[in-house]
Amino acid sequence: MKGFEYLQNELDAMKKEGTFRKLVPIESDQGSKVVVNGKEVIQLSSNNYLGLTNHPRLKKAALKAVEEFGAGTGSVRTIAGTFSMHEELEEKLAKFKHTEASLVFQSGFTTNQGVLSAILTPEDVVISDELNHASIIDGIRLTKSGRKVYKHVDMKSLESALRESKDYRKRLIVTDGVFSMDGNIAPLPEIVELAEKYDALVMVDDAHASGVLGKNGRGTVNHFGLDGRVHIQVGTLSKAIGVLGGYVASSRTLIDYLIHKGRPFLFSTSHPPAVTMACIEAIDVLLEEPQLIDRLWENTRFFKAGLKELGFNIGDSETPITPVIVGDEALSHQFSDLLLQYGVFAQGIAFPTVAKGLARVRTIVTAQHSESELKQALSAFETAGKELGIIK
Ligand code: PMP
Repeated sequence: MKGFEYLQNELDAMKKEGTFRKLVPIESDQGSKVVVNGKEVIQLSSNNYLGLTNHPRLKKAALKAVEEFGAGTGSVRTIAGTFSMHEELEEKLAKFKHTEASLVFQSGFTTNQGVLSAILTPEDVVISDELNHASIIDGIRLTKSGRKVYKHVDMKSLESALRESKDYRKRLIVTDGVFSMDGNIAPLPEIVELAEKYDALVMVDDAHASGVLGKNGRGTVNHFGLDGRVHIQVGTLSKAIGVLGGYVASSRTLIDYLIHKGRPFLFSTSHPPAVTMACIEAIDVLLEEPQLIDRLWENTRFFKAGLKELGFNIGDSETPITPVIVGDEALSHQFSDLLLQYGVFAQGIAFPTVAKGLARVRTIVTAQHSESELKQALSAFETAGKELGIIK
């Protein structure tokens, strides 16, 4: 079909640079091992931190939900698509996060977009960490509010931004709880102190911290003992929770406001019963099987130490997200391709997802990985790393 030559030119340039990517279809369930191109390989690229995507209790809950309530809901939440199970999940999430209320959106992405676009007006200003997730950036783009970007986790830069924005009605500081490409944790205690000093609101996106940090995986706010001092906690149901969706946990006022003004909530159909019931079960699993989180951290420590010992640059990660930074964009993809040949699925990540010159293979271990799988993965990293001259 004619008309898309201008896009094809760009794709051709990406092919020349070696940055054009094909999707990698998985032919099995999402576990510590997956089948790719008919071959079983170790999965180090999923966000399935606790292995809940195929946990027997979640699968059973989803199947039962389909039998009893059908495959879909047939409406948006505000018209005819709120089932009692949706409210049950929201009550559970609020209790879990120690907040008054919560609201579920279709995804973590739409949660950030929905919250930010609803609560900020030209009278307000949003102050955002420069490495925040794309969904926060896009949420900000949807508003007409003032905007300031502070240097990554730099509290001096944040304080300057707060000082410079005293004439706005409301100041909202927004940060990832755990940064998705580097695995470092936001300095939340300092952020909260500054927010209190300057009377600003704080919003934390705990997509990579829920199910990972804090008691039973309650996230960074609980991890730092800041319950009740962070105004807005966003989480996803698509990573450690193992299913799909996003939520915001906050005050009753904010939740009631979002029910009326959160555009993805208002204008997009609610989650099917299987999704919602599996999420409800997942929260129970977090409460009843804390050993999964212990295992996740044991695996994290083991794998990080192994990569470090081999001489890889793994940045400043403090969480199960471990980047193996190689710098060059094309090299990161070559590295990933070679790892796949050696039995490890670990995706290369390059610009624009990370800054130019900081391309990497990003790894995430899960609670499901066995020590022997991780040893096998380390040996593949060693062979591929030496072959490409990334390590000696
Ligand atoms: N926030 C962060 C920090 C993320 O890493 C992601 C997922 N990549 C999201 C939000 C979006 O979550 P979801 O996949 O549920 O849309």
